[in-house]
Amino acid sequence: MRSLVVCFAWVCLFCSESLAQTTTAPREHNSEQPPPALDHFDASKVATSIDPCTDFYEYSCHRWVQDNPVPPDEIFWGASGKLQLWNEAVLHQTVLAIAAKQVAERTPVEQKVGDYWAACMDEKQRKQTALETLRPGLERIDHMRSKAEIAEIVADLHLSIYGAWNPSDPATYAALFGFGAQPDFHDTANVIPQFDQGGMGLPGRDFYLKTDAESLAILTKYKAHVARMLELSGEPVARAQSAAEAVLNLETAMAKSAMDVVKRRDPKNLDNEMGLAEVEKLAPNFDFARYLEGVNAPPSGKFIVTSPEFFRSLERLIQDESLAHWKSYLKWQLLAGSASQMSDDFVQEDFEFVGKTLFGAKAMLPLWRRCVQAEDRDLGQALGQAYVARAFPAANKERVKQIVQNLEAALGSDIDASDWMSPETKKQAHLKLAMQVDKIGYPDHWRDYSALEIRPDNHLENVRRAAAFEFHRQLQKIGKPLDRSEWTMTPPTVNAYEDAQTNTINFPAGILEPPFYDPTQDDSVNYGAVGAVIGHETIHGFDDQGRKFDGSGNLRDWWTSTDAQAYDQRGDCIREEYTEFVPEAGVQQDGRLTQGENTADNGGIYLALFALEADLQAKGEALDSKGQDGLTARQRFFLAYAGISCSNVRPEMMRTLLLMDPHPLDKYRVNNVVSNMPEFAQAFSCHKGQPMVRKNACRLW
Ligand SMILES: [Zn+2]
Repeated sequence: MRSLVVCFAWVCLFCSESLAQTTTAPREHNSEQPPPALDHFDASKVATSIDPCTDFYEYSCHRWVQDNPVPPDEIFWGASGKLQLWNEAVLHQTVLAIAAKQVAERTPVEQKVGDYWAACMDEKQRKQTALETLRPGLERIDHMRSKAEIAEIVADLHLSIYGAWNPSDPATYAALFGFGAQPDFHDTANVIPQFDQGGMGLPGRDFYLKTDAESLAILTKYKAHVARMLELSGEPVARAQSAAEAVLNLETAMAKSAMDVVKRRDPKNLDNEMGLAEVEKLAPNFDFARYLEGVNAPPSGKFIVTSPEFFRSLERLIQDESLAHWKSYLKWQLLAGSASQMSDDFVQEDFEFVGKTLFGAKAMLPLWRRCVQAEDRDLGQALGQAYVARAFPAANKERVKQIVQNLEAALGSDIDASDWMSPETKKQAHLKLAMQVDKIGYPDHWRDYSALEIRPDNHLENVRRAAAFEFHRQLQKIGKPLDRSEWTMTPPTVNAYEDAQTNTINFPAGILEPPFYDPTQDDSVNYGAVGAVIGHETIHGFDDQGRKFDGSGNLRDWWTSTDAQAYDQRGDCIREEYTEFVPEAGVQQDGRLTQGENTADNGGIYLALFALEADLQAKGEALDSKGQDGLTARQRFFLAYAGISCSNVRPEMMRTLLLMDPHPLDKYRVNNVVSNMPEFAQAFSCHKGQPMVRKNACRLW
């Protein structure tokens, strides 16, 4: 489940394809051109007019920020964005090469990759087929005779729209609620079904409930957007408008009963196990048995219901709202979840609201990028093999593996050295660390897509079959032992994650490229960049959420009460430090929401620094000896750390992130971290009283 998987970078709350929509004048990437240039570490790019001890982010990033405005079709731009584009260009070349092959010469997997691409890129065909593909579903909703049928319509929607099994936080296009497979909180060896809150079209409950002018303006635009989408599907204008009103009322009621993002960070709040009879009692008017049959879920004696209150409220909504209102809601869910893969008119309308209003994009991504992103989602491991072969040599995997192991050793030493933990808790922490599994680059076993039919003649059908394939694959985990070797990100993804229940840290090949991992750079730079990412994920297993799970991934308190108290006190310092009003976004950064990420950033960089020091010592070098560029290894380390965070973010995106995303903004990821560290002050000779030397410095790991 998403909320127990914690990543390094922002998770785009609406999945990228909503933003990545086609443009009427596609800016085609020429296949003859090489992928765009990647950023490499360059210490000469600092702003010499700024004192690193006053504002290290500005010192390191000012010139980058000036030189790299957000491209019109992006919502933020940083080193990771450039790498993302580079990875997509590599994938693009791969699919073009496959698509150019004679049909008879293609392998079965190449047939799928080539046909998916052809259908996705064919806008004329999409125009002819998209709405017709949805027509039977829309008619089925129109013909509903009673609210008892809601369950099977929802099952249909979950089977044909990607992501119902893994709602983001909170669920977006999962109609009504999310349903998937998750390890039992108390016995991760067993995978059981899970019902999660969901049903809302906006990124989170705050978007419905806040009453400031900006929030109200977004709601007004949202309602107009819902109406326009219904109009595009053929509803008369007046009916579409009253239907949009009903949709907004229903979703607002769902938002009111949904658990907020801060509460959802505490796994204890999600840990509600029930038998089917108990689940049914939460919402007797929703036919759970019919739903489970509809999605073909394997039987289970136990279910997790992450937020029972949400389902109690669904019962009231089913009773109180008219069948006509429910029809409007279900149609809207079908359209909203499909729009980004439909014809131009839907794609454009989806972009106008999601891309522009929620995230601030000025233009849509070109068609080729949208299709690469969709294909990465739907056939990611087929494409991923080619990506790895082209972009991730075995030597890189070996070196990164070594760095990961060095950082884990550094955490072992840090646990031993901490003066606030008792020997009992230290022993448990070591046990957990020893059981952590490191996954680097790509899966050991590639996914078999042979059961997924892909045809060249209807893109939306392909997308719907791929969603059903994935939903089915997820549900088939129920009743089976947990597979810790599985990846939830595709190889070209520029991100990394820790999963508390599998006790794994995962680094897709896509992030192991410059400027994160750069074989042309020395250790100080690589430890400062990818080392900090690895440290971040390693610490996630020991942040305020991760520490509640043991080495087997079970939710079990292995801390003595005194040690837990000492931990929380240190955590309070971090929480307070990051709770800050962000004037450029007009909202507050919530230190409770970002607590885990901040703990991971602050602890992770220490692991990287300790590991670098040990590596240098082994070679007879020291952190403070100067290199050819006149900088010490310690200085290069911190500059590389800041370098991966230089970014420009659109204000709309910033606001959405601050409300919903557990990561702090990049400026804080740099300045708060370094100002907590005497080791940074030493690197740049900062002294007490300067902004980058914090009076009440926080230190947990
Ligand atoms: Zn993280």
